[in-house]
Amino acid sequence: MTDHFKPALDLLIAAPRGFCAGVDRAIRIVELAIEKYGAPVYVRHEIVHNKYVVDTLKAKGAIFVAELDQVPDDVPVVFSAHGVPKAVPAKAAERGLSYLDATCPLVSKVHRQAERLVNQGRHILFIGHAGHPEVVGTFGQVPEGSMTLVETVEDAEQVTVADPDNLAFLTQTTLSVDDTAAVLAKLRERFPTILAPGADDICYATSNRQGAVKAIAEAVDLMLVIGAPNSSNSKRLVEVAVRNGTCATLIQRATEIDFDWFDGVRTVGITAGASAPEILVREVIDHLATRFAVTEREVELVEEKVAFKLPRGLEAA
Ligand code: SF4
Repeated sequence: MTDHFKPALDLLIAAPRGFCAGVDRAIRIVELAIEKYGAPVYVRHEIVHNKYVVDTLKAKGAIFVAELDQVPDDVPVVFSAHGVPKAVPAKAAERGLSYLDATCPLVSKVHRQAERLVNQGRHILFIGHAGHPEVVGTFGQVPEGSMTLVETVEDAEQVTVADPDNLAFLTQTTLSVDDTAAVLAKLRERFPTILAPGADDICYATSNRQGAVKAIAEAVDLMLVIGAPNSSNSKRLVEVAVRNGTCATLIQRATEIDFDWFDGVRTVGITAGASAPEILVREVIDHLATRFAVTEREVELVEEKVAFKLPRGLEAA
């Protein structure tokens, strides 16, 4: 069909979107480890929550496993961007494995804060999502019982603590900015002396991507969020879009798009979670262009210039 006969579709493309500095670094670590040590390089857990990224690294020689027990001796292993409990590198060292830690430096910062607060004798209320690897990793930095998970405002209303005047809070890095503010408000109301090391630990990439979605949500009829169903920050982008007045759908690839979604739709917003590569955004736009006469406009909320150093020994690989 020539564009002349296609229905018009305006695309508002949120920026920033897609890869953050932590994801970029984690992927680079796996690639450089393969270059330096040769394939295979083992990776404990999905390096980042994106199937396309994982499949691409598999094709280059990475092998993804759930636990360290599945890593043979004498083969390097990389720990994912979400961070790992302290017991994991300790076990790797015990086995004499060489390992590379791709934990995002912003997650590592939360780990160090947790340790410091517990060493000061404080109990931590940790705002996060049960079972997420980042939460498992952060809880694994401190002795059992020194941190309590708070997921919702209801949890914040009900949580019981031994010493209300000796508390601190920390948060997962990929939470909803608005939900976290509501949970924090409740905690501060119940425990006025709760120590806040910072406002929260939601990272720049998470808050920028949510802000960019908010900036275009009202102007679009439908928001497509490119990301994985197990990606916390991608799921939050869907929620932010819906709360700000538009329909939103999480898709992993262009092939999941159903053109029936576009009945009566004139303007579509597009964004991508922090672990979704730009190639998948382009794939979605190209796919839409097979059916619609698309116009593209990028709406940039803020320019990101964050970059993290690679672990020592890999820079020169
Ligand atoms: Fe790091 Fe934030 Fe990216 Fe997670 S989303 S890897 S915390 S920069």
